[in-house]
Amino acid sequence: MEGIDFSSAEHRKVVIIGTGPAGLTAALYSARANMSPLVIQGPEPGGQLITTTDVENYPGFPDGIMGPEMMQKFEAQAERFGAELQWGTVTSVDFSVRPFRMVVDEEKAITANAVIISTGASAQYLGLENESRLLGKGVSACATCDGAFFREQDIAIVGGGDTAMEEALFLTRFGSKVYVIHRRDEFRASKIMQERVLKHPKVEVLWNTTVEDVLGGEFVEGLLIKDVKTNETKELPVQGFFVAIGHKPNTSIFADFIDRDETGYIKTKPDSTYTNVEGVFACGDAQDHVYRQAITAAGTGCMAAIDAERWLTDQED
Ligand code: NDP
Repeated sequence: MEGIDFSSAEHRKVVIIGTGPAGLTAALYSARANMSPLVIQGPEPGGQLITTTDVENYPGFPDGIMGPEMMQKFEAQAERFGAELQWGTVTSVDFSVRPFRMVVDEEKAITANAVIISTGASAQYLGLENESRLLGKGVSACATCDGAFFREQDIAIVGGGDTAMEEALFLTRFGSKVYVIHRRDEFRASKIMQERVLKHPKVEVLWNTTVEDVLGGEFVEGLLIKDVKTNETKELPVQGFFVAIGHKPNTSIFADFIDRDETGYIKTKPDSTYTNVEGVFACGDAQDHVYRQAITAAGTGCMAAIDAERWLTDQED
């Protein structure tokens, strides 16, 4: 923020940060409410759905829709009513002054009367080269989105937290076998979730095991796994590989101003999208660690636009 001249900053009534389902729905609603929102796209325009193939659980698309195509439609619908999308990433903010200050790509100054944060969350991956190459081709970080593609196939999921347990149980509906791969000899997940997983007949837990590589040409064909006690490696044939080692909300740039929980999710007031800073609203996966679905993100995006519009109207009165 230092060295940035805000005297000639571009000023907007509403700035929306992020263009996943939450941000673009907030953009649609605030554009239709005549607030001419400026939407800063962020480093992953379209958000997590850009890395998904078929989206089959978004109402209104009975035959499914490809993730990137769906996000293009969200974008077109917001633009049709006057939302302006701008390339760039918000790199710092100052919410201690009004109008609120934001810097895009460390150089461009923007100010706004109200800000909607919809920066989403990013799934954590193991960081293996073949894991990213086969993303969407058998590798996924969302069982709810992609589990149904692996009917009667063998699936592996890595992680030992509640997400891994929840997703492993969900995957048992489809897979003929679900391997849960965990690097230690005990899960971090709540006892009740662990028990459900451990007693499920389709689940086999591979304790003290790490995933060293993802195998396959065009699609996932297996994993190279290592027993960390013996250092032995072996191939595990699977067609689906789910990574559930945590999500990280993209909220660190707001840390000095906005209250977050211990894992970084933005805290909002009950039944609203109000943050602790009046005039700054938060929606989508940056704020929701429970549901994390496109439809719920879109729902809270709508709420944020309505909250912002009402708050701005109250300010003008
Ligand atoms: P967590 O951080 O709780 O768990 C992540 C898991 O991934 C841990 O078991 C961790 O292993 C493992 N892990 C992390 N990095 C690696 C790596 N590089 N290689 C291998 N394994 C790795 O994340 P979750 O997403 O599971 O949960 C996040 C929060 O959301 C938690 O508070 C959870 O309780 C909550 N949640 C609640 C739900 C519910 O109540 N229904 C559902 C889902 C989540 P290790 O244990 O060794 O550190």
